[in-house]
Amino acid sequence: MHVPKTTKDYCKKCNKHTEHKLKIFKTGAPRALAEGNRKNAEKKRGYKGKYQFPATIKKQNKKPTFISECGVCKAKHYYVIPKRMKKVEIGAKESKQTKQAKSKAK
Ligand SMILES: [Zn+2]
Repeated sequence: MHVPKTTKDYCKKCNKHTEHKLKIFKTGAPRALAEGNRKNAEKKRGYKGKYQFPATIKKQNKKPTFISECGVCKAKHYYVIPKRMKKVEIGAKESKQTKQAKSKAK
């Protein structure tokens, strides 16, 4: 799905609707010393160092999360589209005519 680069969204700081820039949110690296990771390491330790994970069902697609930045005060907040989708692209979809014109220019 194509998502526009800028949207009009409510800003808490400005207390009104302003223009917001959208960026795709990416999760950081997991912390090695988080409680769950420490427990998992403890279970895997020792002579029989095997630990069977409970079977989990992986969802095919993810709900895209964005970080939207206010154009006036630069405050950031999350912007979630509550729908699962395969592919997300920021920017309007190019029509066939503009694609052809670009390829000709090259
Ligand atoms: Zn603002």
